[in-house]
Amino acid sequence: MQLVFATNNDNKIKEIKLALGQKFEILSLKDINCTEELPETQKTLQGNALQKAKYVFKHYKVNCFADDTGLVIESLNGEPGVYSARYAGEQKQAEDNMQKVLDNLKGVKNRKAYFETSIALIIDGVEHTFTGRAEGTILETKSGAKGFGYDPIFKPNGFEKTFAEMTMEEKNKISHRGIAFSKMINFMLK
Ligand code: IMP
Repeated sequence: MQLVFATNNDNKIKEIKLALGQKFEILSLKDINCTEELPETQKTLQGNALQKAKYVFKHYKVNCFADDTGLVIESLNGEPGVYSARYAGEQKQAEDNMQKVLDNLKGVKNRKAYFETSIALIIDGVEHTFTGRAEGTILETKSGAKGFGYDPIFKPNGFEKTFAEMTMEEKNKISHRGIAFSKMINFMLK
């Protein structure tokens, strides 16, 4: 079965292909010649995931899923949350976003945070949603060069390294998106 992942983020495509094995053929937006930016104007992760998946289903008539992720930091009242991609501005630069988080948390003791992913899946026009969460802390400095986004400053609970110091397999097992993906995969294989 072919399934379009409504993203052009190569990291995410690699993550899902690794998790799904040979069971599904995953296509990216590029693969279906979708070059326009998908609308993402909702105020919740689930709202954005649904908005993107519905757009692709409506315009390309393919079974598809979309995800939206946010980093929720307790002492910043939940920021950057749904605005994680553009926290430091429309240029959507991971380095700038991480720097803004580190600046805002300077001298702050409570560094608890979690990543949350919402996935919206549309199969034959029927919508399904799944969520996953990874709890952890924000470090004071960056560490590691793997992964993407906020990975170098996020240390998941129970581990002595950041997401950016983990292999993709290690991260997939415990990450927000990995957990949400597994829920989706279990549902599809039922
Ligand atoms: P998106 O909704 O997946 O595009 O994610 C929104 C923002 O969160 C982007 O700035 C991403 O870089 C960041 N982000 C998403 N997933 C991860 C992750 O697994 N690790 C670190 N940052 C992430």
